[in-house]
Amino acid sequence: MALLSVVLPSYNEEMNVENTAKTLAALFEKEKMDYELVFVSDGSRDKTFEAIKKQSEENPRVKGVEFSRNFGKEAGIFAGLELATGDAVVVMDCDLQHPPEVIPKMWELWKEGAQIVEGKKSSRGKESIFHRMSAGLFYKIMSSLIKMDMSSSSDFKLLDRRVVDVLLGLPERNTFFRALTFWAGFDTRTVEYEVQERKYGSSKWNFFSLMRYAIANATSFSTLPLQLVTMMGTISIIFSVILGIQTLVKYLMGNSVEGFTTVILLVLIIGGFIMLSLGIIGHYIARVYEEVKGRPKYVINKVTENVKGNVTGSWKRR
Ligand code: UDP
Ligand code: MG
Repeated sequence: MALLSVVLPSYNEEMNVENTAKTLAALFEKEKMDYELVFVSDGSRDKTFEAIKKQSEENPRVKGVEFSRNFGKEAGIFAGLELATGDAVVVMDCDLQHPPEVIPKMWELWKEGAQIVEGKKSSRGKESIFHRMSAGLFYKIMSSLIKMDMSSSSDFKLLDRRVVDVLLGLPERNTFFRALTFWAGFDTRTVEYEVQERKYGSSKWNFFSLMRYAIANATSFSTLPLQLVTMMGTISIIFSVILGIQTLVKYLMGNSVEGFTTVILLVLIIGGFIMLSLGIIGHYIARVYEEVKGRPKYVINKVTENVKGNVTGSWKRR
């Protein structure tokens, strides 16, 4: 029988682990599916890993690891993919905001030959206006930079073993899971789902972390911001030609240009452009620097009994 792995990145989810593990186990037993649950505690500061360990002792199909610190959800997803042994792997949030009932549907599509099944949000569920707005802005920036409609996409996906191996084989450290499956191609189907409300704990995102995530992902996936620098330069040059001609004409006609205002404005605007451009270029250099250093995406500190391997370093150096 084919094995399904479910990868659950979890950060400070002590209140959710038991409920999620039990809900999923009950569902898969009802559906008579062969499964394993892979929890990745992302350097949680609460008792998330203890909760995972307890579930693992009760149910040998549950396994988990704990990072040495918070490495972010992307790292959690990739650690989970690395640990998963299934023929197909589902990635979902640990807070059950991704409804588990959708997994059997994804599983059916996979059995029919789908290699990627994308979970598509039919609504964003109940979120605060502030969260909705920042998430909205986030997806706008992302979609326009990546040139893919990201507004209804999520990290809730099923991947075939072949796709998992492709993603694990990518040498880059700054990954963006959500868009990488688009990049990978393969036979992709979608399943719609309704985002559920979070029962316990709270969302880990705020406006600033979302913005940082947006910028990090945009620059890891697109070089458009760099072209923006060229564009700003071009605009400045066009303006300077126009202004230059005007100044010269005035000078030749005998009345030199007056006006500190123009000078001040120009200095400020061009200074702004230059600093912004340096910032964008600097950001890319920082990315290159990170990639060149070649540090692993995450470091595993603790594992449950049923996980074998090097527990002090990263899982596998890629
Ligand atoms: N998460 C993680 N590392 C982080 C932040 C979040 O592994 O640094 C996990 C979190 O435990 C949850 C999922 O990512 O399972 C989604 O996070 P959250 O529910 O806070 O985000 P939201 O659903 O509000 O977008
Ligand atoms: Mg959530």
